[in-house]
Amino acid sequence: MAEYLKPVPTPDPDTKKFWEYAKSHELRLPRCTACSLLFYPPQGLCPRCLGDALEWVKMRGTGVVYSMSVVYANRSKGFKDEVPYIFGYVTLDEDVQMLTNILFKGDPFQVKIGAAVEVVFDDATPQVTLPKFRLRAG
Ligand SMILES: [Zn+2]
Repeated sequence: MAEYLKPVPTPDPDTKKFWEYAKSHELRLPRCTACSLLFYPPQGLCPRCLGDALEWVKMRGTGVVYSMSVVYANRSKGFKDEVPYIFGYVTLDEDVQMLTNILFKGDPFQVKIGAAVEVVFDDATPQVTLPKFRLRAG
């Protein structure tokens, strides 16, 4: 495997489970057992009621593009051969938004706001798998 030059997340106690599920190609998000809020990004306390009893719910992995930016220049190490790429928000079917990369081939503007997308898992390094999204067929 070629050396992975882009930055990768460092799991902490609040995000460790998210990354472990991603590594096994499952998209799971925390849900507060007190108030039922499902949220992203993962954190140790519910952002609504500050409850600390969380359960990890498997997402369908499908959603729609909420907003996006096409990035044409990034001088950071590892991105030189990646431009253009899309950085954007996806609204999951479960009504949670995730900041993510939206993958495409060819023209980035074939990706439209509201387009149907599905999660894909990028095994970036032996330790880290990144959930990303791509256009859903049909
Ligand atoms: Zn809560």
